[in-house]
Amino acid sequence: MNLELSEEQTAVRQLAKDFVAREITPNVVGWDRAEEVDRGIVKKLGDVGFLGLTIDEVYGGSGGDHLAYCLVTEELGRGDSSVRGIVSVSLGLVAKTIQSYGTEEQKREWLPRLTAGEALGCFGLTEPGTGSDAGSLTTRAVRDDGGDYVINGSKMFITNGTWADVVLLFARSTGAPGHKGVTAFLVPTDTPGLTRRTIHGKLGLRGQATAELVLEDVRVPASAMLGPEGKGFAVAMSALAKGRMSVAAGCVGIAQAALDAAVGYAAEREQFGKSIASYQLVQELISDISVDVDAARLLTWRVADLIDRGEDFATAASKAKLFASEAAVRCANNALQVFGGYGYIDEYPVGKLLRDARVMTLYEGTSQIQKLIIGRALTGVSAF
Ligand code: FAD
Repeated sequence: MNLELSEEQTAVRQLAKDFVAREITPNVVGWDRAEEVDRGIVKKLGDVGFLGLTIDEVYGGSGGDHLAYCLVTEELGRGDSSVRGIVSVSLGLVAKTIQSYGTEEQKREWLPRLTAGEALGCFGLTEPGTGSDAGSLTTRAVRDDGGDYVINGSKMFITNGTWADVVLLFARSTGAPGHKGVTAFLVPTDTPGLTRRTIHGKLGLRGQATAELVLEDVRVPASAMLGPEGKGFAVAMSALAKGRMSVAAGCVGIAQAALDAAVGYAAEREQFGKSIASYQLVQELISDISVDVDAARLLTWRVADLIDRGEDFATAASKAKLFASEAAVRCANNALQVFGGYGYIDEYPVGKLLRDARVMTLYEGTSQIQKLIIGRALTGVSAF
């Protein structure tokens, strides 16, 4: 086993570090307070190639392997999870799924714009009444006499929702029960009947556009269907399996940022006439963060390696997402403890890290759902 990065991976990681230092770090506090990151960041992410990682160059992608994708995602997560999420969703959940399941026409229509940052994608699975039990979703797509589909329903907590140009939407289009009746559609967000409402008051990820989508008689042609009819749930689960690696990498970034901040502050802050770094209980906090960072990163890199070698990776992705998300919360919380009262105000970075980390154990499958996926793989018995 060789964990040394290739020249290309080292270069892309440095590119991401420089990008974060230049475009993100100076704005983090302002964006968080304003509850909106500057939309210009999307085009910049496209220009530098971060929205096209792992996508074929023929569709405007920037190529690269999944470890390179993890390295970039980690750096963006270290900088600002609100920005990281834009990439994880538009590239990770939408563009990569179009690349895997799309027709040639769908790929040519969407991928060049998505990878360039000229269009943004969002992923519409969750509904007000169905979160963990996504297979029971109720949004309905009914085929009319002309062959179009007419969609009615609503979607909840949709990242990029108000900014997106296309929603990868999951709707029930056949009479089959549960997940068997679900079909995926690519719905342009300017289609008449689709309205969007920003969800305000989030604990973290404040700069990110999270929305509720309402669909009233939204008409799309049959050519908007992504993958076969009735196979939409498999499309969603395959997107989320890879998506979990991206969330895990973002969590490694949060944990690394917590470590860097805690080490820096402990060296500067003095109490009882000595640097607090000299106290064993403070060193314990820092050491616990550091072990979590390493363990989360190794679990995440393993997923990238499995994907790049064409091996099964879904259970490993659930393990990485479960561990890294819980670790990110622990690390940010431990770092806040190192900062004392200063950790509680937003002039210092750790409070935001904790607020942003908290959602990671909830979305793309809660920690409980990851445990059930891992348990199913080990026992062969499904708890769902
Ligand atoms: P519920 O499913 O109601 O769960 C509530 C609690 O019950 C949880 O603790 C859960 O673990 C537990 N639980 C549920 N079922 C079981 C079970 N069988 N066994 C044990 N425990 C169980 N969704 C999208 O489709 N697209 C997005 O872009 C997106 N972005 C999001 C962004 C944010 C900021 C947030 C907060 C959410 C986002 N989501 C998105 C939705 C997210 O994926 C859901 O919130 C998540 O799947 C959980 O669903 P829920 O909130 O309905 O909770």
